[in-house]
Amino acid sequence: LAFERVVMETSLRAALKNEEFVVYYQVQVNGATDTIIGMEALVRWQHPTIGLVSPDKFIPLAEATGLIIELDRYVMKTAMTQISQWYQQGFSPGVLTMNLAIKQLEKEDFVSMFRELMNETNCTPERIELEVTEGQIMTHPEEAIVKLKEISDLGVELAVDDFGTGYSSLAYLKRLPINKLKIDQAFVRDLPEDEEDAGITKAVIALSKSLNLKVIAEGVETKEQRDFLIENGCDIIQGYYYSKPVPA
Ligand code: C2E
Ligand code: MG
Ligand code: MG
Repeated sequence: LAFERVVMETSLRAALKNEEFVVYYQVQVNGATDTIIGMEALVRWQHPTIGLVSPDKFIPLAEATGLIIELDRYVMKTAMTQISQWYQQGFSPGVLTMNLAIKQLEKEDFVSMFRELMNETNCTPERIELEVTEGQIMTHPEEAIVKLKEISDLGVELAVDDFGTGYSSLAYLKRLPINKLKIDQAFVRDLPEDEEDAGITKAVIALSKSLNLKVIAEGVETKEQRDFLIENGCDIIQGYYYSKPVPA
């Protein structure tokens, strides 16, 4: 296992150096009007012999080894450059959402690095949103609150990814400087038939509304799921029903 890990780590490092990572984009749609309101950047590894590798296969190792910092910096720079280019070309891609690993936040210079990146890529804060998973926030919530506040002070909106799967504390939720909850696909998968999932989904939507947060559902694959969500007040939809993640 240790050997395998060393091999993987070495090839991850080489992949970064050789620019083998590519960024895909998945649209987020206002389901009530069927208009694109933004997109999420999702990284893939274009391996020279294995082919396209999904993030689940390498993000955990990248996190464990600290390589995630360099990887996410690359993803952010690529995606922010791309979104600016689309705006310049006269398109309306909406808000760019990027996944933020809490590891990256622990680096002292993240906020200044990010501010610089916004300048460099010509990205204004209203055009960007960052997502942190609930599980990662709740590992060290006090630190997360302080760091996320610094990001939110830049004018960048924050969303809680995979909401409902990470032992959320409502007391912390109240104190986090967040703007949006993202309902995890585990609750969306069996909608609308599964009564428990339907109940949980409705409760998360109600929670968002009463905390004045926006709400988005991910992993939406069918018209039935989409209709259920919209009927119950969750207008923003992301999932294969509209589009898989695709290259720029
Ligand atoms: P996530 O941020 O929760 O992203 C949603 C995942 O669900 C993506 O998987 C997406 O391709 C997939 N998905 C979207 N719509 C559907 C659908 O309708 N049905 C199903 N079954 N799946 C759908 P992906 O791209 O494999 O990414 C997996 C996870 O890896 C992400 O979960 C995110 O936590 C992490 N990740 C991806 N890119 C990055 C990155 O650049 N940086 C960091 N730190 N993490 C990343
Ligand atoms: Mg995400
Ligand atoms: Mg998610």
